[in-house]
Amino acid sequence: KEKTLAMIKPDGLNYTGYIKRVIDESGFSILKATMVQLDESNAALFYAEHSERTFFPSLVKYITSGPVSVMVLEKVNAIADWRALIGPTDAKKAKITHPHSIRAICGMDTERNCVHGSDSVQSALREISFFFEEMVSN
Ligand code: ATP
Repeated sequence: KEKTLAMIKPDGLNYTGYIKRVIDESGFSILKATMVQLDESNAALFYAEHSERTFFPSLVKYITSGPVSVMVLEKVNAIADWRALIGPTDAKKAKITHPHSIRAICGMDTERNCVHGSDSVQSALREISFFFEEMVSN
């Protein structure tokens, strides 16, 4: 089995019931879950790979605009399967091309896309330890 980090972003929190139902019905086990309010410095660290992008300041503002819900999900092929369920980054496009995806249903646009999923084994390991080893003590 494989683990991935799923995040419900601040704009997705209203849809938590729906998103949890999708998670359950898709065969994932939720191994760990917590709510956190990211501050600017840990948000910047989480999204460090985007630090040079023009949208970075806006992304940090968005992701710190309220609490996020983070979960470790487990199943066979968890990383790719969760990415498939959330759909494309641009929620506006997702509404057309992937209308049943989580981002199509809960998201707004390229930035406010309501959920996150790790994109590789390496990032899943990094992101899981980011929230469940370093940050729980904060
Ligand atoms: P995530 O990493 O959150 O699962 P992703 O892998 O689909 O999303 P990335 O390209 O890694 O997308 O971007 C990380 C996040 O940064 C996006 O989910 C979105 O919130 C924001 N973002 C990406 N591209 C843009 C953009 N062009 N303008 C504004 N925000 C953006």
